[in-house]
Amino acid sequence: MAETLKLSLYDTMTREKREFVPTDPKRVTMYCCGPTVYSYAHIGNARAAVAADVLFRVLRHIYGEDHVEYARNITDIDDKIIVAAKEQGIDISEITTKFAKIYNDDLAALGCLMPTYQPHATEHMDDMVAMIEKLIVDGYAYESEGHVFFDVTKYDDYGKLSGNTLDQLKQGARVGEAEYARKKNAADFVLWKPSKEDDPSWDAPFGAGRPGWHIECSAMIKKTLTSEKYGETIDIHCGGQDLKFPHHENEIAQSNCAHNAPLANYWVHNGFLQMDAEKMSKSLGNVKLIHELLETWDGEVLRFALLSGQYRGELDWTDSLLKQAKNTLDGWYRILEQEGLEFISGNEPEDISLEAPVLSNRANCFLNYLCDDLNTVNVISELSQLKQNLSNGYDNGFDGSSPRIIPFSLKRKWNLLRSFVGTANLLGLLQKDPEEWFRGKAQEGGLTDAEIDGLIADRAQARADKDWGRSDEIRDVFANENIILEDGADGTTWRRG
Ligand code: AMP
Ligand code: ZN
Repeated sequence: MAETLKLSLYDTMTREKREFVPTDPKRVTMYCCGPTVYSYAHIGNARAAVAADVLFRVLRHIYGEDHVEYARNITDIDDKIIVAAKEQGIDISEITTKFAKIYNDDLAALGCLMPTYQPHATEHMDDMVAMIEKLIVDGYAYESEGHVFFDVTKYDDYGKLSGNTLDQLKQGARVGEAEYARKKNAADFVLWKPSKEDDPSWDAPFGAGRPGWHIECSAMIKKTLTSEKYGETIDIHCGGQDLKFPHHENEIAQSNCAHNAPLANYWVHNGFLQMDAEKMSKSLGNVKLIHELLETWDGEVLRFALLSGQYRGELDWTDSLLKQAKNTLDGWYRILEQEGLEFISGNEPEDISLEAPVLSNRANCFLNYLCDDLNTVNVISELSQLKQNLSNGYDNGFDGSSPRIIPFSLKRKWNLLRSFVGTANLLGLLQKDPEEWFRGKAQEGGLTDAEIDGLIADRAQARADKDWGRSDEIRDVFANENIILEDGADGTTWRRG
């Protein structure tokens, strides 16, 4: 465990940045609300997952890889899924299996680690039914015409997370609709509802049907992350800020009442990804799908672009953001290419001119920024400064003692490079081989990697055969496609220009 690092997180519940202290440093727990899998995810959805992934990586760095448990659910039962299945005339499981896989593949391309647990709602119906039964028995929930509702007046702290009061909610409620006629209070929310005729349905003591969305997360958190031994409270709960109300407010109410313990000690919410100053969302129709962006951009470029804003603020998704992300990453990979990975990952060079305090300042600085509520903006800016210094061949008195130029000793350079690559890796960046990186992505209609490799082999054969016509022809194809060849002692390498 990296004892000296102190992580602070902005906690939505207390509305302040707080030092993160886990209940048990040997078992840090976090939960993030996952996707409803009925169609492709957009890059706004990815922002929530990437922010949680950075937090997961930082926690693993501080507490050790085996001491952090992260659950992110899959919501595989929902009205939208049922509608999509009906429209396509297929079983809901065909839709949910397909889109859960696509979601995981998309996030893997964005460099997200798989969570420790990925519970599916349909596999936890018994846990939901048991929690609802307990809430009914204890007087927090009531049955009404085949439905079960949570009575919000029974939980004194209802509204504490989002700042909504019951009075405000009463005023904003839509009266007259069937669901509202069944409720005691307008703000009561559904825990269980009857399924329509052919819709998927599960047996329950209060009638066959299916769960409301909120109870899914409470039940899956209980099942995957809490226990009698460890208690009912997890360390961190994350998600997009649109989930604060009603989803997280309702998770909190039902879990508190079922367990008489807080659901989470820290609430971490990411800001919106925007397009033209509006939230990117399916309902507004202004979405960029992850799988479509991946046709043009490397996943690391998308990840870098998402991390170029601190997770809590809004971030505008633009072409220039992507181009800038690509340019910066090109510069970072150039360092890796020039310095040689063998050098960076090799043994520490013997060199007595090491200036230890400067180096540890630099390494700590990256981590301290990251530990300051995941300030990826400052980390990226420091990394870019360091990259510039490494390209220049000298450092610039980083410790602030004086603005002098410090030429690199071998050992100093080695340490800085290690720190550079280590920090980028912690952000989930610089995960590729530089050669693979510079090959870039094939554009639509352009030559694929395999076609380029094939033409390079043809060119070698043409040269061996002294078939200069064919060799020139292939050279022209590459020139037209802006493919740059580099002939070296170990053969020919290539990259897209
Ligand atoms: P949804 O599929 O709308 O339930 O969203 C899944 C996750 O993505 C939730 O954590 C949302 O808060 C988050 N999310 C959706 N749209 C955006 C956006 N434009 N920016 C950031 N997060 C978003
Ligand atoms: Zn949730």
